[in-house]
Amino acid sequence: MTVNDTPGDGMDRELTLMAVHAHPDDEVIGTGGILAKYTAEGIRTVLVTCTNGEQGDGPGGVKPGEPGHDDAAVAERRLAELRESVAHLGIDHLELLGYRDSGMDGWDGNGHPDAFANVPVEKAAARLAALMERYRPQVIVTYDENGNYGHPDHIQAHRIAVAAAEMTGIPDKFYYTAVPREGIRQMFEFMRANGMTPDDFELPDDFGTPDELITSVVDVSPYVENKLKALEAHASQGENIPFLRMPPEAQHQAFSREYFIRTTSRVAAPDKEDDLFAGLR
Ligand SMILES: [Zn+2]
Repeated sequence: MTVNDTPGDGMDRELTLMAVHAHPDDEVIGTGGILAKYTAEGIRTVLVTCTNGEQGDGPGGVKPGEPGHDDAAVAERRLAELRESVAHLGIDHLELLGYRDSGMDGWDGNGHPDAFANVPVEKAAARLAALMERYRPQVIVTYDENGNYGHPDHIQAHRIAVAAAEMTGIPDKFYYTAVPREGIRQMFEFMRANGMTPDDFELPDDFGTPDELITSVVDVSPYVENKLKALEAHASQGENIPFLRMPPEAQHQAFSREYFIRTTSRVAAPDKEDDLFAGLR
C-alpha cells in the first residue's frame, strides 16, 4: 500500500483546499465563501482556473462573434479581474491552465481546435494531476457531471478533476458544488414579489439540486462582502451577472451559504456536515 492509499494520511500534511473552475468569475458564487473562510482559518487555498475566458464580453458589451470582439484583449482583461477577485477572497494560490474558452453550448467557439472542451481529458487531467501532486489537497471542489448548467467547459472541468483525482489518489474528500432547489425557489419568489422577474418567466421544475442530495452546507455569512467585492471585480462580465443587480438583502440571502454534494470521503465524516474539512482536523 502506498502512502496515498492510506485513508486519513491527509492529517499529516498541510490542510489544503483546491477548487477547480472553468472560467475567470466562476470561483465566486458557489465557492467564494469557502475559499475566503478556509483561508481565514489558516487552511491553504488553491484556485485552478482552466480557461482564459476568451468567449466573454468585450469592452462595451461586445459579444463573442460580433465585430470588434478581440479574444486576446478579453482574456487579458478577465485574467486581471480574476487576480483582483482572488485578492478579495484571500486565496493563497491561483493556478491557470490557460486553455481557450469554448463558449456556451452551441456557440461557434465550440469548434475551435484549442477550445478546452476539445482537449483530450487525459491530457488536461495530467496537468491538473501535477498540481494535485504539488499541493496535495485533502479537499477538492468542482462541478457535477452536467457542469451544473451544461456549459461545455464546466463539464470538461468536472471530467479532468475526477480523472486527476483518480490518477493521483490524493484527495480525501471530493465535492460537487450544488444549488439547492428550495433555495432557488425562495429566491425566485422573492424576486417575483419585488418585481424583479418578467411576469411570464417560470422556473423549470428540475432546476437546481434536490435538497435531499446535498450533504454539506457551509455558513459563509461573514464573507458575503468579500464575495460581493470579488464579483464586482469581474466588471467586464457584469451584464451576465444578475446577482450584482439584486438588492443587498437578496444578495445576502443568496451568498451566505454554500452547498455541496460530497461524492467521496476516505475519512469518517457525518452524512450531513457543515465543514468540508470535517474528519480532517
Ligand atoms: Zn464558467
